[in-house]
Amino acid sequence: MVDGGHRLSRRGFLSGLGVASVSAGLGAGMGMAGVPSARGVYADLGVRPLINAAGTYTALSGSLLLPEVRAAMDEASRAYVSLPELHEACGNRIAALVGAEAALVTAGCAAALTLATAACVCGEDEDAIRRVPDTEGLKNEVVFLKEQRFGYDHAIRNVGVKIVEAESKAEMRSAINDRTAMLFYLNNANDRSPMTRDEVAALGKQAGVPTLIDAAADLPPAQNLSAYHEMGYDLVAFSGGKGLRGPQCSGFLAGRKDLIQAAYANGSPNSNSVARIAKVGKEEIVGLTRAVELYFERDHEAEWNEWEARVRHILATVEDIPSVSGERFVPEIANAVPHAAIEWDPNRVALTRQDFVNALRDGEPRIEVRPSDPGEPRLEIGVWMMEPNDHWVVATRCAEILGTAAG
Ligand SMILES: *Cc1c(COP(=O)(O)O)cnc(C)c1O
Repeated sequence: MVDGGHRLSRRGFLSGLGVASVSAGLGAGMGMAGVPSARGVYADLGVRPLINAAGTYTALSGSLLLPEVRAAMDEASRAYVSLPELHEACGNRIAALVGAEAALVTAGCAAALTLATAACVCGEDEDAIRRVPDTEGLKNEVVFLKEQRFGYDHAIRNVGVKIVEAESKAEMRSAINDRTAMLFYLNNANDRSPMTRDEVAALGKQAGVPTLIDAAADLPPAQNLSAYHEMGYDLVAFSGGKGLRGPQCSGFLAGRKDLIQAAYANGSPNSNSVARIAKVGKEEIVGLTRAVELYFERDHEAEWNEWEARVRHILATVEDIPSVSGERFVPEIANAVPHAAIEWDPNRVALTRQDFVNALRDGEPRIEVRPSDPGEPRLEIGVWMMEPNDHWVVATRCAEILGTAAG
């Protein structure tokens, strides 16, 4: 559900939420500010759509498809193609854009981690591909820094490998032996790890062991799409359903040609393979490819300025309420985009964070905010996944709730 490490968020989001994709409801029956009105697929299912004032959380259905992506997927859904041919064509297109030798569209970044590991363990060996997660006799150790163990390392362990934890540069080096299949790096942990991302890329090169970096949520900035190939990583994994605004269940793996070919052999449409459970359809393959293309065309500066304006509007709307203050902040880890935080003096405004969250959740339209410390009188709002004008609704609701509690 919610990203590993955000245990907090898990509880908050799990209380009665709908996890289907909001995108399908857009178009007909739109109400105010991007939230579908009472008529529509979600109303029909009895599931209440929400304003995403949180960010790209899987449990909140991630992001909304860009209109061009939605159109490409619709078009792709109308004709049969050879899936191997489509995979190859789209892989080539993405590889050319990001500056890698090859690429493969996957069913999300987690699927890319499984495929990458399987590629390093099995290569294109048919017997090995059929056998995993039984990895006896194969290179079956993945080395990474202990700080970087995370919820998604299950995607790596699916391949039947043992994760060898290293606590220092020296341990990382000495952990490498002839059973080592791959070195792994979690990009968003760069600033809290005993080795930086470039040091691990260099170590892999020196030791002749393939390296994989998980950069799932690390867009923007757009340069990140190419940066890790240039740094020397053999494989780079991204999510398609976060900042890229491609299909929710998409992502991609890019890197060395032999390893990408091996990754392909370890997944769909090859039925007897570990990653066959992570099939991507023609609609997602085409949609993700379009989303990557668009990421190179989008006006990132204009998007950033729009996010800043949303943050300013929300803060300006609540700051007049006695004892309430606002702050613009950019999270250090992932989602490095402008956010708004509202803080209040609980002695003057009779409101807990949970009261605030519940009031936003129970209101109409329903609003979900970013997970944060439940004990703090502070509410964090992500603006980058909002639809145009959602920030007006969010600002007004926050001011109403604070104003009422302030008496
Ligand atoms: C979101 C995320 C994933 C999983 O990505 P999906 O595209 O949802 O499969 C993996 N790693 C990190 C660091 C993430 O933030």
